[in-house]
Amino acid sequence: ENTVARIAAGEVVERPASAVKELLENSLDADADTVDVTVEEGGTELIRVADDGRGMREADVRAAVREHTTSKIDGLEDLESGVATLGFRGEALHTIGSVSRVTIKSRPRDGDAAGDAGTELVYEGGEVTTVEPTGCPAGTIVEVDDLFYNTPARRKFLKTTATEFAHVNRIVTRYALANPDVAVSLTHDGREVFATTGQGDLQAAVMAVYGREVASAMISLEADGDELPPGPLESVNGLVSHPETNRSSREYLATYVNGRAVTADAIREGIMGAYGTQLGGDRYPFVTLFLEVPGDAVDVNVHPRKREVRFDDDDAVRRQVDAAVESALLEHGL
Ligand code: ADP
Ligand code: MG
Repeated sequence: ENTVARIAAGEVVERPASAVKELLENSLDADADTVDVTVEEGGTELIRVADDGRGMREADVRAAVREHTTSKIDGLEDLESGVATLGFRGEALHTIGSVSRVTIKSRPRDGDAAGDAGTELVYEGGEVTTVEPTGCPAGTIVEVDDLFYNTPARRKFLKTTATEFAHVNRIVTRYALANPDVAVSLTHDGREVFATTGQGDLQAAVMAVYGREVASAMISLEADGDELPPGPLESVNGLVSHPETNRSSREYLATYVNGRAVTADAIREGIMGAYGTQLGGDRYPFVTLFLEVPGDAVDVNVHPRKREVRFDDDDAVRRQVDAAVESALLEHGL
C-alpha cells in the first residue's frame, strides 16, 4: 500500500473512535442481537468488535477488505439524507486495514455443511497476509491492532488514553441508546464499562449506560409535528432529564436525526432554550432525543465525518425542539 493511500486513510480514520464507529455499524448492519466492544489503551492498542450477526463465508471475508467492492450508497436518497458517512462507504475495513493490523474471524449464521467452518483473515498494512479456516462462533469478530503503527504522524496526534477512550465511550453509548433491542457492551482495559440487555426500551438502555440515578431523573417526551410550532420536524421522541440532574459536559446530549447520531446547533439551542436559566451556566441535561425530518430538510455538507448537521430552516427546528422539550418539562411541573 503506498504512502499516499496511507495518508488518505489517516485523514478518514481520525482516531480509534472512528474505527469503532465503522465496526459497530457493520455489526448492526449484519443484524446482530449482541455486539461486544473491547478496547485497550483507549483503542490505540486493540479494538475488538464481536457480534452474532449473519457472519461471512470465506469469499465474503476476502471481499470485505477489498477496495470499493461493497459500496452501498443507495443512490440520491442516501446522499441527501445528509447523514451517511460519505467517502467512507464500502471501504471502512479496507481503509482501517491500511493503517493497522486487522484480523477478521467470521462464520455464517445460517451456514450449510460447507459453510460451517469459520474463516480467519489477517489484513496488515493494506495486504492480506493470512486466510485460513478457524473455529469460531457464528457471527463476526473484527480485531484492530496497533492503529496507526505505520503512520507515526497520525499516531503522534492521538490524545491521552483517557481522551481517546472518552471518544470511544461516546460513540458506543450513542449506538447502544439508539438500539435498545441490541445487547451492546463496552469493556476498556479489562473493565466492563456498561452492558445493555438488548431486551429493554430506551429507559432501560439509559439505565445501563448512565446508571440508576440518571435513569430515574428522565422524563419522556413524545411529540408529533402537528403538536409543535411550524417547521420540518415530523416527530420528536425520547428522554430528557430533570433539570437538577445535569453535568458540565455537553457529551450527554445524545441527539439523533432519522436514526443517526448527529449534533446540530439548532437542536442543542432548542434543548437549552427549553431549560432556560434552570441549569445555570455551562451545565447540560442528559438528553436522548430522536428527531424525524424529511431528508431534504437536512443540510448534507457541514461535516460528514463529525456528524454535524444543519437544517434548511434552523430557526424553525430550534423552536420546535424548544417547544417539545418545554412541554415535557411543564407536564412534570418543571
Ligand atoms: P460497508 O459497510 O460500507 O459495506 P465496510 O468496509 O465497512 O463497508 O464492510 C465491507 C463489507 O464487509 C460489508 O458490506 C459487509 O458485507 C461485510 N462485513 C463487514 N463487517 C461485517 C460484520 N460484522 N458482519 C457481517 N458482514 C460484515
Ligand atoms: Mg461499514
